[in-house]
Amino acid sequence: MPELPEVETIRRGLKESLVGHKILSVEVRAPKLFIGDSERLVGQTVLEIERRAKIMVWKLSKQFLLIHLKMTGQLIFIPKEGKHYIVGGHPDKNYSLDLPHKHSHVIIEFDHGTLYYNDLRKFGWIKVIDSEEEIKPHVEKFGPEYDWPEFTLEYFKKALNRRPKTTIKQALLDQTIIAGLGNIYSDEVLFLAKVLPDRKIASLSDKEITEIYKNIPKVLNLSLKHGGTSAKDYRKSDGSMGTYLVVANVYGRAKQPCKVCGTPIESKKIAARTSAYCPKCQN
Ligand SMILES: [Zn+2]
Repeated sequence: MPELPEVETIRRGLKESLVGHKILSVEVRAPKLFIGDSERLVGQTVLEIERRAKIMVWKLSKQFLLIHLKMTGQLIFIPKEGKHYIVGGHPDKNYSLDLPHKHSHVIIEFDHGTLYYNDLRKFGWIKVIDSEEEIKPHVEKFGPEYDWPEFTLEYFKKALNRRPKTTIKQALLDQTIIAGLGNIYSDEVLFLAKVLPDRKIASLSDKEITEIYKNIPKVLNLSLKHGGTSAKDYRKSDGSMGTYLVVANVYGRAKQPCKVCGTPIESKKIAARTSAYCPKCQN
């Protein structure tokens, strides 16, 4: 599932490639995941591509386009000239087929290339809206982003302390506390903060909460530097995960030795999600 660093990485890539370019045609092959009138997009220019939590917000010359990749969404832009593909979202070996393939549900043609929206499970969506006002219902429930000035230690402590019986893992996944943190990065944050994922908030010391808070930007910025976990090079993407997982400490490493102490990494389900942790480094 694409998390904040993956969505941010694809956003940056698409912004660079698409801003200033005109939409020539839109083909919707799976109407279920496209909300709005695709015909009206034709002729509009991409003015800006922003992000709120995991939703991409495209500003067009007349309307707005919201894109949520959800579990298995992927975006690939193939330029007419050159080999510089822009790809992001969920990596899957089914996506290495020639485009468009059976999982390509929306195809947007630009003057300089083609954007494919692929989605194995079709949980993602694309929505056309007329005004900035209509973005609100989609984003108002989200808490601050990790790099916003509102995301202070004081805010974080208060937000956690309102949920004393919740596990810290569950709280980090709660998008109303902090937007964009998902399973991979929550596990990594808790490893670096030396806190077990199933600890109840009420049991956490001030120092532990501070450590968790400090490690959130550290982990997300490191992943952004690595381009998230998405495969960057489409031709090489055989479903294998991209470069962040090479530096990940616990996520996807169950039964493998902890990089710090050598103890096998353990995993268990917390709030319906698999959490990976070191039973020795984390308390
Ligand atoms: Zn360890």
